[in-house]
Parts: sequence; C-alpha cells; structure tokens
Amino acid sequence: MRVQENDRQCCGCTACANICPKNAIVITQDAKGFYYPEIDEELCIGCNLCKKVCDFTKFEPIKNKAITSYAVRHRNLDEVRTSRSGAFFSAVANYVIERGGVCYGAILSDDLRVEHREAKTIEMCVRFKGSKYVQSYIPQNLFTEAGEYLKSGRTVLFSGTGCQVHGLLSYLEMKRISMDSLITIDFICHGVPSPGVWSHYKDEIERRANSKLISVNFRDKNKFGWVAHQETYYFTNGNQESNSNWADVFYQHCMFRESCYNCPYTTPYRNSDFTIGDYWGYEKVIDGYRDNEGLSFVIAQNDKARLLLAELDTQLEIQQTELEKSMQPQLCNPVYKGIEYNRFWKEYTKKADSAIKVFFFPGIIRRIYLAGLKRIKPCVKRFLRVLHR
Ligand SMILES: Cc1cc2nc3c(=O)[nH]c(=O)nc-3n(C[C@H](O)[C@H](O)[C@H](O)COP(=O)(O)OP(=O)(O)OC[C@H]3O[C@@H](n4cnc5c(N)ncnc54)[C@H](O)[C@@H]3O)c2cc1C
Ligand code: SF4
Ligand code: SF4
Ligand code: SF4
Repeated sequence: MRVQENDRQCCGCTACANICPKNAIVITQDAKGFYYPEIDEELCIGCNLCKKVCDFTKFEPIKNKAITSYAVRHRNLDEVRTSRSGAFFSAVANYVIERGGVCYGAILSDDLRVEHREAKTIEMCVRFKGSKYVQSYIPQNLFTEAGEYLKSGRTVLFSGTGCQVHGLLSYLEMKRISMDSLITIDFICHGVPSPGVWSHYKDEIERRANSKLISVNFRDKNKFGWVAHQETYYFTNGNQESNSNWADVFYQHCMFRESCYNCPYTTPYRNSDFTIGDYWGYEKVIDGYRDNEGLSFVIAQNDKARLLLAELDTQLEIQQTELEKSMQPQLCNPVYKGIEYNRFWKEYTKKADSAIKVFFFPGIIRRIYLAGLKRIKPCVKRFLRVLHR
C-alpha cells in the first residue's frame, strides 16, 4: 500500500519514510521509473504520522508575506561558467562550508544516477553544480541525518526542488527540530523526468556510441551559451557528442512525474529561504548582462534570507528587481501534459527500449510531425491547459 494512493499527490520527497517510527516505509520504483513510498503492513502500527507529515497535499502559499526579488551574478566568472545560471548556489554553499557547515544537493553519481548527497568540503560541493534534468533520488535517511546535524548546532544548507525542500521543512517541524541554523534553497521548477527513462535512454546512447558514458553536461553553456539547451555526452573512448535529444522530450512534457502536473509550489511564495532560477526576461528589468554567460533570479522569502544576501555582497553582484515583471509560467501554474503524454507512457511501459528509440531518436517522418506540432504549439498549449485542468 502507498502512503498516498494517488500518484498526483506524491512527489517522492521521502518525508514520510524519515518520520515513520517503525521503519515501515520502503521506497520502490514504479513501472514509469519513479520512486514511491510503500508501507509494509506487517510493521505499520497505524500512527498516521506519514500522512500528517506529507506537505504536498496541504501546502498553502502565504501570499501576504514580504518577498523581494534580485538579479544576481557571482563576481567570479569561472563560477558562473561552471554553474547553470549566475552561480548563486555556489556562493551560499561556500559560505556554509567556510563556517564548518554541511551542504546537501543533487549530484550525478559515478554510475550516472541523479541523487542527493551531503558535502562537507568545497571540492565535494562542485558536484552539485549544474542542473540535472532528472528527478533526484533522496536516500531514505537523509532528512534524519540533516536533523541530527541541526540538533548538534551545525549550519545546514539543503537545496532541491520545491517539493523536496518543503518535505524536509515539514519533517523538521514535526520532529520539533530548530531550523535556526538551516538555509534552504529551492528552484523554479519545470518538472522532473523519470529516473527509469533516463537509465534506459543512457543505455541507448551507449549502445549507439559503442562506448560507456563517463559524464553528461545536461545543459552545456560553455559550448552553446546560457540560453540554449543542448546536452554534451562524454564517453570512455575519448569521444564526446552534443545534441538536444533529452531536452526535446523534456519540453514535450511527456516524461515528468505525475505530481508535477499538479504541483502546489508553482508560486513565488514558498516556505524556503530562497527560491532561485534562470533570470528569463531580465532585459525588462535591468540593463547589462547581455553576454549569454548566465544570470540568477533570486527571491528572498524572509528576513533571514535578506540578511544572508547582504553578507554575500563581496562574492555576488546583486540588484533588486521588480517581482511582477519577473514572473515565469512555472511560478504561476503547474506544467501542462504534452499531447503525446498517454502514448509515451503506453509505449514505454510496454517496451521501454523501442519507446526510447521512437521518442528520443526520431526518424524523418516523426521529425516532420514534430516540426508541425511546434508551429501550432501556442494553440495546443492553451487547449491542453484547459483539457487537463
Ligand atoms: C529539473 C529542473 C528544472 C528547472 N526548471 C527551471 C525553470 O523552469 N525555470 C528556471 O528559471 N529555472 C529552472 N531550473 C533551475 C535552474 O536551472 C538552476 O538550477 C538554478 O537557477 C540554479 O542555478 P545556479 O547557477 O545558482 O546554481 P547551480 O550550481 O547550477 O545549481 C545547482 C543546484 O541545483 C541543484 N540541482 C541540480 N539538479 C537537480 C535535480 N535534478 N534535483 C534537485 N536539485 C538539483 C543542485 O543540488 C544545486 O544545488 C530548473 C532546474 C532543474 C534541475
Ligand atoms: S511525504 Fe513525500 S514521499 Fe511521502 S507520500 Fe507525501 S509526497 Fe510522497
Ligand atoms: S502509519 Fe505510522 S507506522 Fe505506519 S507507515 Fe505510517 S508512520 Fe509508519
Ligand atoms: S514541478 Fe513541483 S512536484 Fe514536480 S519536482 Fe518540481 S517542485 Fe516537485
């Protein structure tokens, strides 16, 4: 039995598994390749803590609190070039590590899985840099360990999707653990693709290249600039290859977790300290930065965040901006389901390998069809939003 029976109501944050006093919850992968918490009914005592801790079904944004927005870029251009946006995350991580704290973020592991890890050195934090467009797996006891660090008085930085951060906050609140030395950063989130699909896709890339993958840059801004979305794959035989196969299906909105189409965190008002993203539309609010290197959009959610931002002034260029003119669709509505959503999952759950070939390596007829779809995309988008509401 699942903690939340309806897929739309579970983001996979693992707060329930961390809170369970009987360790009765295990995280399992479903047919679409996403992680869900399953209750072992032999161990369960029916205390209901798992349901109480679940923020995803209860979150209500506090719309009357004072939030402020900024355009931010690291003063060190090397940091900007090795980060996704303007390297805001990197400045906060360095601040925490210098004070003996612990950072949590998503890495690409040696076997190319995306998962959350802890880091206690700046060298370890380097692996957090860059957006990985796959849902990050949170090890089952990670929130518990973060809580122990907080109890011992260490500063803790946790960064992740809105649902992961809110899961941690809900867990700590229920455990009555002080959050005074906790800093949280969530990001504006388009949705997260399935780890299972990523794994099958990776196998196909390796088969075609006849070589093992050693690394991936999910959005290679050094080669293509900040605005473009192209991946670069690095192989053990020394070859590298760039394309937008993964990004193209990402924007077709087929392979996201079911909860992403029902996401309550599509608002600028969050319970995290900072909400960050790419500063799309920055030209409307500030001058400069037209160099395609990358610029962070940062929302300070509270006074604690504003004080920290002031302290980071030596590392970061910071300009306050108008929030109303900086809104993105992902701060207003959950992502809509793509026109091929049902077909994608039907084919993937029937025969994953052939679905990967059809969707990620389209032949000429499919490419013509996709080009046609792109032309009518604004109308399709409006139609699908209404249809799936
Ligand atoms: C799946 C996904 C969708 C996104 N959608 C949008 C969007 O629609 N609009 C927008 O403006 N910005 C979006 N972003 C955020 C943006 O791309 C940058 O991650 C953010 O601006 C941070 O940039 P940075 O330069 O400060 O730091 P970087 O150093 O590049 O940021 C890395 C941080 O992101 C975290 N991270 C990376 N991948 C993941 C992951 N899969 N799961 C959890 N945490 C992860 C790392 O832990 C680290 O803390 C998205 C990011 C991801 C991963
Ligand atoms: S706490 Fe998180 S993982 Fe558990 S049911 Fe709720 S959303 Fe899913
Ligand atoms: S009801 Fe209590 S014991 Fe049972 S799975 Fe939930 S938290 Fe664990
Ligand atoms: S879109 Fe929402 S539910 Fe999906 S990963 Fe992002 S924050 Fe979580």
